[in-house]
Amino acid sequence: MRKNIVAGNWKMNNDLPQTEELITELLKQNQTSDAEVMIAPTFTNLWQAFESLRQESIEVIAQNMHFAENGAYTGEISAGMLKSIGIQTVILGHSERRAYYNETDESLVKKVDAALAHNMRIIFCFGEELADRKAGNEEAVVSSQIKNALFHLGADAFKHIVLAYEPVWAIGTGETASPEQAQDMHAFIRKTLADKYGNDVADSVSILYGGSVKPANAKEIFGKPDVDGGLIGGAALKAEDFYAIVNAF
Ligand code: 13P
Repeated sequence: MRKNIVAGNWKMNNDLPQTEELITELLKQNQTSDAEVMIAPTFTNLWQAFESLRQESIEVIAQNMHFAENGAYTGEISAGMLKSIGIQTVILGHSERRAYYNETDESLVKKVDAALAHNMRIIFCFGEELADRKAGNEEAVVSSQIKNALFHLGADAFKHIVLAYEPVWAIGTGETASPEQAQDMHAFIRKTLADKYGNDVADSVSILYGGSVKPANAKEIFGKPDVDGGLIGGAALKAEDFYAIVNAF
């Protein structure tokens, strides 16, 4: 059975004291669901967060990484560096990185391969823009993002991959996809996987929804059969809201 996962993507928020404070607050919350819980602080706070949560059931994950092992890539961080401080999971392909940092299908192939070579788990993000949806192209966009970055992989690789559908028009806008829109796209994503890798692989991959998930809408979205959790931005920055979402399962 695939896992339910709720991951908090902190984006470029929280300095070191704020990171420590939010972790302290997270540890006061009560988890009643079986979801796997993850948080992705900024690079400068990963080690501290990892240390603070070493004995806890919250996994600390990274928001990005470079594809090279090391070298002349000023400002970048490699999979090996993440692994060396204990980080096992990395978010790749977030729409903000695609939009602002020129992340392409081609560079994502390299990042995916590098993360897998280091035996890391990947939360692979994709999603259409508003213009794509208005033109009725959302499925074509999503399937090409998935195929171009992941379909060179063998079936076994999908044991290490979590998919995160994040429609760009719903990120940070307060506008969520309706539970039905999320379900329709998640079912389409699972079918896309099944057509290439078969039902066993498709049924085993967790597909998260991201985009303005809040305590008020999480239950309805997570109630859909092909939605296996969420990638949470804004609402992950408040411990109570985040755990209300974690406990929405
Ligand atoms: P919001 O929850 O703030 O819309 O962000 C979603 C997101 O981008 C998570 O990666």
